[in-house]
Amino acid sequence: MVFWTVRTMPFANLSLRSLLLLTFAACGLAVALPVSRAPAADARRPNIVFIFSDDHAWQSISAYGEKRKLLDTPNFDSLAAEGMRFNRCLVTNSICGPSRATILTGKYSHLNGFFNNSNSRFDGSQTTFPKLLRGAGYQTAIVGKWHLVSEPTGFDYWHILPGQGVYYNPTMIDNGRRVEHQGYVTDLITDLSLAWLKQRDPAKPFLLMCQHKAPHREWEPALRHLGHDHDRVYAEPATFFDDYAGRGLAERDQQMTIEHTMNAKDLKLTPPPQLNAEQRTAWDAYYEPRNEKFRQSKPRGRDLVRWRYQRYMHDYLGCVKAVNESVGRVLKFLDAEGLADNTIVIYCSDQGFYLGEHGWFDKRWIFEESLRTPLLVRWPGKIKPGSVNHELVSNLDFAQTFLDLAGAAPAPEMQGRSLVPVFEGHTPADWRKSFYYHYYEYPTPHHVRPHYGVVTDRHKLVHFYGPDTDYWELFDLIDDPHELRSVFGDPRYGDTQKTLAAELTRLRQELKVPEHDPPGASGQRVEGRGAEKTTQ
Ligand code: CA
Repeated sequence: MVFWTVRTMPFANLSLRSLLLLTFAACGLAVALPVSRAPAADARRPNIVFIFSDDHAWQSISAYGEKRKLLDTPNFDSLAAEGMRFNRCLVTNSICGPSRATILTGKYSHLNGFFNNSNSRFDGSQTTFPKLLRGAGYQTAIVGKWHLVSEPTGFDYWHILPGQGVYYNPTMIDNGRRVEHQGYVTDLITDLSLAWLKQRDPAKPFLLMCQHKAPHREWEPALRHLGHDHDRVYAEPATFFDDYAGRGLAERDQQMTIEHTMNAKDLKLTPPPQLNAEQRTAWDAYYEPRNEKFRQSKPRGRDLVRWRYQRYMHDYLGCVKAVNESVGRVLKFLDAEGLADNTIVIYCSDQGFYLGEHGWFDKRWIFEESLRTPLLVRWPGKIKPGSVNHELVSNLDFAQTFLDLAGAAPAPEMQGRSLVPVFEGHTPADWRKSFYYHYYEYPTPHHVRPHYGVVTDRHKLVHFYGPDTDYWELFDLIDDPHELRSVFGDPRYGDTQKTLAAELTRLRQELKVPEHDPPGASGQRVEGRGAEKTTQ
């Protein structure tokens, strides 16, 4: 699909060079050089601050209004109050690396080549939006979690965590050079991001990708946030003790439950090894008395699961608190530097996450908690403050959105669509009404079977497949909002099922999904990376 952003790029403003390039592109020829707006427009091209986190559940942002009211998040909420909150931003493949690859390329995993976190390696020679923005005159930087194995390309400055990175005193890689940092990872990523902004060339627009590790497993909060909840008892989600009746083998036979899969490190029964002596003292002062009480009381059965959930919520939400603070620091900086008015601020995560729903942590599934990622966008003068959007938007759309913002030509092979008109309150009449999802990684690390499906505002049709698996499910989000009962094969849904099946076939053709997954798409079983065993 090719979407020309003619609306934001009137031909009258194009140079002869740009028109020639556009002509080549329209003829289906490869375009190596970006098309820029006329110089007069350059001054108002917005800066782009993309604040990104890892495994951040929208349920833990107070602006999303989840009924457990898990955490007060004033800085996320201010983005929502001053900008737009998206209620259904869907990811193409709900795990870390694949989401990042989709964001950079604007393409699904089967076209960008990054299917899983086990054996995929990002091909940095392919077209990405940072490269195109850089070519269009933007300064580009990425700080924090990268997680795509190969080195970043398309950035003037990159300062990243190796692999997953660690929460305390992390090693980072500064444009190829390893650097040992002291401190808490979320604070450090914010410090480095602001330091780069301070030294940038103020005459040129910029793209900053500030990418947090938090709140990824093992959910280690900043020391200042230990005890942040004053030992509050969190409400459990309605599906906490889900028995998986009404669904198939995949949902029953997985390894991502709080009951069976969380380990001693997740539960802070063993401390992280990176703590220095002073940090360890503060850590122990919080956890040890509580761990001792746990060891003495020896909870069993559901009481043990409940204890784990409470510990998980304290730790996970503590990590989110630091990300909320980071957002506040960035917004304050933009105000102080007089940049806020001409900077679009985007906050999102690489996917959603389970906070005890269905008894789970982790992500991967086509189900709402993991399919949806939080998305908050502030763009003064363009986005109406306090807007809420319910359209099916996606991380697939970000690349073309950023190109549109920068006045750069859309890359013909990208598969998403610019969100700029959506931001401006003019959602095109032909905006997508269905969305294709595809997850591949199996069997490790969480034994979630590969699946693909089509999602609409109300329904999901899903095919689970694999060596021992071949079945379909259909969900009705209005009648069954927690997705507990497949109605596939139910005659009352016959027409719906038929329509969705046809739509799924159409989407797979349009998106060029191969009939069979390429070799290695599910990831190889790597020695030492097996599914975690329950240790407590
Ligand atoms: Ca993630």
